[in-house]
Amino acid sequence: MTAKSKSECLCVLPGQRSLCKLLAEVRLPDDPKWISLVLYMRSLEYNEALGISQRASLQKLLLTMLQDGDFSDSKFQTIIRMQERVVTAPYRQKLEAAVAESSSLLREFESILTRRRGDVQDLGQTTVAVVESGDQPATMVRKLRKSFRELVQVMDDDAKILEEVARTDVLTGLANRRFLDEVLLRTTEKAVTTDSALSMLLCDIDEFKKVNDRFGHAGGDVALQMVTEIIRSVVDDCVSGEFYCARFGGDEFALVLCGMDLGDARVMAERVCVAVEQGRVDVGAGGDQADSDTLAVTLSIGVAQLDPTWGDVMTDRLVQDADSALYQAKAAGRNRVACA
Ligand code: GH3
Ligand code: MG
Repeated sequence: MTAKSKSECLCVLPGQRSLCKLLAEVRLPDDPKWISLVLYMRSLEYNEALGISQRASLQKLLLTMLQDGDFSDSKFQTIIRMQERVVTAPYRQKLEAAVAESSSLLREFESILTRRRGDVQDLGQTTVAVVESGDQPATMVRKLRKSFRELVQVMDDDAKILEEVARTDVLTGLANRRFLDEVLLRTTEKAVTTDSALSMLLCDIDEFKKVNDRFGHAGGDVALQMVTEIIRSVVDDCVSGEFYCARFGGDEFALVLCGMDLGDARVMAERVCVAVEQGRVDVGAGGDQADSDTLAVTLSIGVAQLDPTWGDVMTDRLVQDADSALYQAKAAGRNRVACA
């Protein structure tokens, strides 16, 4: 079978004819590797393992590739790398977050270990001193018990510190994704058993890559901290019930609002959106430059409410619905709220 007849075969398949027409228009070469790439990228549109925004980016990449009309080998390699970047982006972000978390856990663990090594040496010296003191046995036992109790107490405190570190995002101090997953399981189950409402907000900073480009990664970090403070203060002011605020990953934040229905959650989201839009922080230009730059960002927010009939896939559906709504908010122009 020649390369040409291969591409013609495509047109026999129902649903592929309009694609074939487009491919003929853009003069895609009758080369199996280009045809396979187009079909593969087209199929990603229906790949449910990918997020909505990833699928949209991939289809945009496919269209741009076809419109560019550059079907050279080097372009082929570039497209392969670009699609890989889009497909693996969430995994890379998760990996980066996990590495950051693990390193902060390790640091904490190391400092605890150093402190406790000293405490154990102190306990050894105390034990020797007590035994050599010539006190009555009952007095000696009381003193030794006290020293051991104190050491056990600080070790319990250490365990609590480690637990806290393991569930906190290092940069923002908010709950991390791992803790949010636990919270979602627990709160959705409780909402169903107590027949109460539960809503979720998924917030994503608009065009955050441009913030990083303009202010550097450190400036981007400042923006993430500013958004954290604003979300915290709005939620503290407006929510009286149980709520959880977490860094969902990268430039995304999640809010779980127990006892709140979609309407109230939407009002809350609008407030967050407006407050973030008004937020400003001065970022020094750094180096020898004395002038400073004002950093401002906006948020897009997706809101979803738990449906108790979702059953086993409850938490996944809630996150998916909030994510779809977030995608709608982005598609509608950003700096706005959309409901699932
Ligand atoms: P959109 O409006 O579509 O959301 O555009 P965007 O540019 O914000 O796109 P996206 O949300 O995909 O970009 C997230 C960026 O956040 C990419 C990544 O480099 C950056 N990022 C992720 N984690 C951190 C971090 O901890 N600090 C900084 N400074 N940047 C981060
Ligand atoms: Mg963003």
